[in-house]
Amino acid sequence: MPDYLNQEIKFLSGVGPKRAELLKKELGIYTFEDLLYYFPFKYIDRSKFYKISELNPNFPYIQIKGKISGFEMMGGGNKKRLVAFFSDGTGSIELIWFKGLSYIQKSLMQNTEYIVFGKPGYFNGKYNIIHPEVETSLKNQNTISAKLQAHYNTTEKLKKSFLHSKAISKLINNLLIVLKGKIQETLPAYMIREYKLLSLDEALFNIHFPQNNDLLRKATYRLKFEELFYIQLNILQKRTIRIHKWNGYVFSKVGKYLNQFYDENLPFKLTGAQKRVLKEIRKDIGSGKQMNRLLQGDVGSGKTLVALMSMLIALDNGFQACIMAPTEILANQHLETVNDFLERMPINVGLLTGSTKNSVRKELHENLQNGELQILIGTHALIEDTVQFKNLGLVIIDEQHRFGVAQRAKLWKKNEQPPHILVMTATPIPRTLAMTIYGDLDVSVIDELPPGRKPIQTIHLYDSKRLRMFGFLKEQIEKGRQIYIVYPLIKESEKMDYKDLEDGYESISRAFPPPKYSVSVVHGQMKAEEKDAAMELFVKGKTHIMVATTVIEVGVNVPNASVMVIESTERFGLSQLHQLRGRVGRGASQSYCVLMTGFKLSNEARKRIDIMTKTNDGFEIAETDLKLRGHGDIEGTQQSGLAFDLKIANLGRDGQLIQYVRDIADGILDNDSDLKKTENQMLANQLKKISKKKVDFSVIS
Ligand code: ADP
Ligand code: MG
Repeated sequence: MPDYLNQEIKFLSGVGPKRAELLKKELGIYTFEDLLYYFPFKYIDRSKFYKISELNPNFPYIQIKGKISGFEMMGGGNKKRLVAFFSDGTGSIELIWFKGLSYIQKSLMQNTEYIVFGKPGYFNGKYNIIHPEVETSLKNQNTISAKLQAHYNTTEKLKKSFLHSKAISKLINNLLIVLKGKIQETLPAYMIREYKLLSLDEALFNIHFPQNNDLLRKATYRLKFEELFYIQLNILQKRTIRIHKWNGYVFSKVGKYLNQFYDENLPFKLTGAQKRVLKEIRKDIGSGKQMNRLLQGDVGSGKTLVALMSMLIALDNGFQACIMAPTEILANQHLETVNDFLERMPINVGLLTGSTKNSVRKELHENLQNGELQILIGTHALIEDTVQFKNLGLVIIDEQHRFGVAQRAKLWKKNEQPPHILVMTATPIPRTLAMTIYGDLDVSVIDELPPGRKPIQTIHLYDSKRLRMFGFLKEQIEKGRQIYIVYPLIKESEKMDYKDLEDGYESISRAFPPPKYSVSVVHGQMKAEEKDAAMELFVKGKTHIMVATTVIEVGVNVPNASVMVIESTERFGLSQLHQLRGRVGRGASQSYCVLMTGFKLSNEARKRIDIMTKTNDGFEIAETDLKLRGHGDIEGTQQSGLAFDLKIANLGRDGQLIQYVRDIADGILDNDSDLKKTENQMLANQLKKISKKKVDFSVIS
């Protein structure tokens, strides 16, 4: 890689040691290359000039050309401001500053032609622009001109050192002058030709200084293409290596356990989706390659049953299996479910969690090692080094995002050969996103709910309708149902959230007084045992209402609960709302989700509530979520570290392109799996460079 790109940023003209320090701290820009790849977040068309006479109050950013006819200092205290009267011959407008007044007044002259840029406002019958950009209409010789002006994100600290967007643009201008003719291509010539891409040189130039809209579009496409392509190439190559390196246990037969279960214990017909997914799993575990599969399915879609049947196949082939759950409550629930399903079958199932007593633990360890214990269910306790299996063949990981990469890797060490792995998640993830954040995993989807479920009805109510809501809850309790009321919680320690819940709990206790009603409460400030005890009361049907923060979000199963009330809905993200709603609708009766909000709602909040009331389809919701927020906040992407590393592509919005470049990468590896061919030399080099940089794109490595 050419050295000048690696040069420290302080050597760029216009930077110097002090600014270099700031750029490092604030934006993570250390080298010329980092700055070169610091892309604008928006562009504003500077090719058009508006006339003041044609303005109307709804205009976005505008550009006008004219002269200042006079200044006036107005107001006092923090209302003190400088007003410049600006006219272009068709009308006049006020330019207003609240900061840097005397400096600005000194630097601007009357009767000189200026270009003024900003968002016009309308007040007291007059147009104004607050804190406009003002520049002379004479062009500076050393400035690259562009039709579209790039805007860069900056920070308060940077602005204080005059590193605002325009200054950053100026630095990049200097950089591009230095780098002229020196930027080397990073994609092979045949790809540039075949996929009609701009050269890297041209793309980088136009991303910062677009000569026109068409070139900006092409530059963006080229850079996104490259970014996503290398991610997919990296993932697919690692996957190829893994498949070649690791053999998997072969579960060749279906035997007495699965057959007996199927014939005698299975209380219902499998859904079509469950059958399909089981087929996919059986193909994997019979192939001689290690399975690494993500099973996605909405809450209540019947993933647990699929997991159980997969485990029975492992047992049929003489192996042990385990389920790892993120919390003790969930581990307990899995144990109950599994025990119910396996009633009267001669299978040994054990439970291991943080609170398993030492004496019990000792026996468990023994039975695991001698193979007597066939299925182990537990929490993180499962991956402790002291836990040794005789022959662990299959690991089910439930609600995977709660487990880190390192923790999962530990499971591998329990055998000389890695067990098959099935990761289950109820957070629906759009396909293209899954392909990237769980890159190395194959994906199965259960996209069908068991029959007979009544879709949950979702209603939006303003806080002023609270009494009506209470009335409705009483009716439901009359009918023997139970109710969740959930309050938002951003951080477990946030006092304010706790207060919301406390106040809420009080008013609910008043509205639902004992002895007729009983209410339990769970929040982040309680000790684990207290939490579990309160939860247990609700699970067992001993309390009518469970008031809680989002601690109940994951996995809890109380089929008799038929109403989920969500308070301050506007403060929840979409995927969280969907998760919460999934706590109800698990029994046979009609279930409801009530979204409570104040009157004032942002547009985004309104969109979230709209989609929630319109559909129960988790994938549709996930897609919308991704589009509303981009990928940065989506669960899983943060953990993967990938989202923050992308410079230009967006995993949410660039779904089609992801699929496209993945197919291309696939095709290349098909013909040249080690990237040894001459024409692919550049690909191999780039991959090396990328993997040195930091992120390991595969989740299990
Ligand atoms: P998930 O883990 O995907 O949220 P579960 O496995 O807990 O869903 O299943 C939810 C409920 O549906 C359970 O009570 C389960 O017994 C039941 N169930 C699973 N599969 C079927 C099916 N094919 N037909 C009817 N009920 C089913
Ligand atoms: Mg589940």
